[in-house]
Amino acid sequence: MKLKIPVLGSVALAAFLWAGALGAQDLGPGFHKIKDGIYTFAPDQTTTTCSFVVTQDGVVMIDACNSPLHSRNMLATIKKVTDKPILFLVNTETHGDHAGNNFVFSPPAIIINAGGAGAGMKKEYNPKRAETLAAQSAEMREAVKGERMVPPQIEYKDRMTLNIGERTFELIYLKNVHSVADTAVWMPKERVLFAASAAVVRGLQNLRPAVVIADVLASYKLMKSLNPEIVVAGHGQPTTTKVFDEYEGFFNLLLKRVGEMVANGSSLEQIKKELKLPEYADWAGQGRLGLYIEAAYRSVKK
Ligand SMILES: [Zn+2]
Repeated sequence: MKLKIPVLGSVALAAFLWAGALGAQDLGPGFHKIKDGIYTFAPDQTTTTCSFVVTQDGVVMIDACNSPLHSRNMLATIKKVTDKPILFLVNTETHGDHAGNNFVFSPPAIIINAGGAGAGMKKEYNPKRAETLAAQSAEMREAVKGERMVPPQIEYKDRMTLNIGERTFELIYLKNVHSVADTAVWMPKERVLFAASAAVVRGLQNLRPAVVIADVLASYKLMKSLNPEIVVAGHGQPTTTKVFDEYEGFFNLLLKRVGEMVANGSSLEQIKKELKLPEYADWAGQGRLGLYIEAAYRSVKK
């Protein structure tokens, strides 16, 4: 008896894990089927999310995935789902974890992002990137072969509409929210929004000095006004507009506390040392709180 139970238990557990690991339509761990023909690869709560949408005429991708390994896996997965070509790849920002692996898909895919994206990517590009990645593992060395920066072939201003097959994609430029060129992708019929990295799921990201909190808050308002059913942020699992509400609450509390401390004569250094936000202590990336305090300080001092 003593042997039988654990054996049965582990068989059941293995079957359960196997089923769980297969995920969306047997596509593998991290894949989510959002709606018919709309898939997201979100490996965990903090790693870059990338997605693909199948249309009658071909595939549209949103972001090129976190690492070349993820990108190769994505490419293989798309081939499992459809034999149609990848027509377009929209970069939601310029950073390497979203745009650095464009080379895996393009050519033939045409890359699109807002104006200034290509210039930004050229400025940010690390020529040692391939070498550094290759040193990680034999698998990565293989996956990173052919690495080069592929800036968007198409840059748009403010808004752009893609009509591909039966689907419509509205590209919306988000000003000063994360990188030098950030794009949200809105699918009005399906009510799915790919929200770039204006907000990520319960985590603090690497906030650049060009980010303006007022613009970030305005982007939440705009994206919420679209009334999406599903929101896919640049990092983390697919969610809803809750991600904007959470971040709005966070920024408003941060602005309030920093404002009070500035009014009391505290310097930026003092605020960075003393200010704590225990309400958000469970968010990932706590080491980056200082960057958010700096952004709040800039906007309070304006
Ligand atoms: Zn980024």
